[in-house]
Amino acid sequence: MEVPEFDIGRHFEPGVTPPSTADETAWWFVFCERRLLLRRLDVHMFQPPCQRHDPRPVASRIGEPHFLGRLAGVPCYAADIDGQFPCPAFEARGLYGLHNRLRADLYLLAGRAFQILEWDRKHRFCGRCGTPTQRAIAQRARVCPHCELSLFPRLTPAMMVLVKHGRQLLLAHSPRFPEGFYSVLAGFAEPGETLEACVRREVREEVALEVTNIRYFASQPWPFPHSLMVAYTADYAGGEIRVDGKEILHADWFTPETLPAVPGEISIAGHLIQWFVDAHGD
Ligand SMILES: [Zn+2]
Repeated sequence: MEVPEFDIGRHFEPGVTPPSTADETAWWFVFCERRLLLRRLDVHMFQPPCQRHDPRPVASRIGEPHFLGRLAGVPCYAADIDGQFPCPAFEARGLYGLHNRLRADLYLLAGRAFQILEWDRKHRFCGRCGTPTQRAIAQRARVCPHCELSLFPRLTPAMMVLVKHGRQLLLAHSPRFPEGFYSVLAGFAEPGETLEACVRREVREEVALEVTNIRYFASQPWPFPHSLMVAYTADYAGGEIRVDGKEILHADWFTPETLPAVPGEISIAGHLIQWFVDAHGD
């Protein structure tokens, strides 16, 4: 199943090499202390600077921008800025709280920009020989001029799984969640592990259940800070719920009628749970 909200779509053409001449119109994803600079459009919606008449946050204070590609033909850039941004026309906002407060494609691009800047910031030095790295020209990479090690943007695969048992689904409360909030199980893949093996291991470790019939559901870029979330469904195959007490404090079976507070549409967890409710609700 595809979740179209998580895909920028065909009108975005990714790229690395910026246009040779500066366009008058360009989308600028500028982060100040990891918060995106935005102009307020109305009481609810924001927009990154784009038009020529926007105050430009692209003065001398900005680091060398990264070209991201073109959105409907308009060049898109990501850049970091240090310290306070002095222009009162813009405010800085954390990415997580911006879901549904930016146009959907701009929100996804902002996540892409955030991940590229995070990677760039954290790979200034070669991990092998310690030499300062340089930005590669024709690909998204940083290269060590001394030992030629190439450093590419990092993605961390993680899985989540909706475990189902007839009309019931398994939901769990983690110590990171607010009181009374539940979600499906999730975890990071380990070296040498398939995602399906990760599903089986996490379910076993966190709630001591066995699962079968593991099926791919959909995926979501999750830029907090650099995950690719891969969602699955699975059928309960045996065992009694016994939580690990660390990652999971409480877990139980719920029906569409007895759901607790769960994630919304910002995350694929919300889509997974909604899919189950649509299939099993009255
Ligand atoms: Zn090196």
